[in-house]
Amino acid sequence: MITGRASWRICFDSQTSSVQPGSSHRSHVGLKAIAVVDNTACGPAIGGVRMAPDVSTEECFRLARAMTWKNAAAGLPHGGGKSVIFGNPRMPNDQREQVMRAFACAIRDIADYIPGPDMGTDELCMGWVKDETGRATGLPSALGGIPLDQVGATGYGLAACTDVAREFIGLELKGARVAVQGFGAVGKHAARFLAQKGAVLVAASDTSGTLADPSGLDIAQLIALKDAGKSLHDHSQGTKLDTDAILDIDCDIWIPAARPDVVHAGNVVRLKTRLMPQGANIPCTPEAEKALHQRGVLVVPDFIANAGGVICAAIEYRGGTERAAFDSINDRIRTNTRLVLEESRRNGGLPRAAALALAARRLRAAMQTRRWR
Ligand code: NAD
Repeated sequence: MITGRASWRICFDSQTSSVQPGSSHRSHVGLKAIAVVDNTACGPAIGGVRMAPDVSTEECFRLARAMTWKNAAAGLPHGGGKSVIFGNPRMPNDQREQVMRAFACAIRDIADYIPGPDMGTDELCMGWVKDETGRATGLPSALGGIPLDQVGATGYGLAACTDVAREFIGLELKGARVAVQGFGAVGKHAARFLAQKGAVLVAASDTSGTLADPSGLDIAQLIALKDAGKSLHDHSQGTKLDTDAILDIDCDIWIPAARPDVVHAGNVVRLKTRLMPQGANIPCTPEAEKALHQRGVLVVPDFIANAGGVICAAIEYRGGTERAAFDSINDRIRTNTRLVLEESRRNGGLPRAAALALAARRLRAAMQTRRWR
């Protein structure tokens, strides 16, 4: 069991007020948020700020712990943390600024927590947080930020992970058939970088449905379509199927890049793939992941495969360039994927168990150096 100098805080409007930009007037904005710092053995915690109406304390704790594992496994000098803000991310921009500034004021003295963007927050939000606290990652480029979703940091890491993992099942990337569930910031770039290595995108899905073409979809056209705010089903090419049909696509590499728990005991038999590098966080229930392992499907767990985003954030925090971030992602994810899959092959256990053991080893070594261990 890993314990650490964990701390958490509930931030209410009654405890915090925001500063109106350009004036000293303080007004209450209805902030309700939770910040969790799970472990700081490896360094100050990095973790996103999620804004949604239905977030919960439990979700925040789970996500903070997941960041501890992800950052330790990636060998970053950072612990794990997370925040959630109860609110509608589509609120008007001036209100959003007030809420984010109030949140930033509330966490200002949690000096070992560095916030980043997550669902419902973006680089502009992080700019406001930095303005109030002096620390944030995922910043606008005008503040030295690297736009990680635009450059595809996580998708790039997934492609590097896939390139190592495919050796373990004797799969060539040239001509390999890829299916992507969730053609968003992670999924579309994973498809793009894999296509650069010769793979073929045979199906992709978003909330509009699944688009399939065994002879290969045009990735550049699909990205342009999504960037224009349209859906995959607006494309003229390919067969249009329902959203769930992505599960039935015959492929070599199936990339979940949408929501948690999408593959479960009730639908895992539908997957026809050999490899699953996990882009989304916790896309499989534990039963489904075990069933895939027993069927010989190689699963690279989320916190190894999708660490590209946080590696990019850590490089940005130190003033590094996009090039440096990509080199670091390539290096760290390739090394970790190999370590985890070799260990899993050696002991026959799940890759996730090997990944957790790797992260725990690194965390324990870091904790040996701390006075508060
Ligand atoms: P995004 O919002 O940019 O993209 C998500 C895509 O999934 C959208 O195209 C949406 O239409 C689609 N989608 C939603 N529900 C779906 C469903 N049921 N079936 C099919 N498609 C569906 O989000 P993102 O940033 O690409 O993140 C995707 C996942 O990856 C999330 O789980 C996120 O936590 C995880 N993740 C993201 C990053 C990152 O750098 N952005 C890093 C690590 C992990």
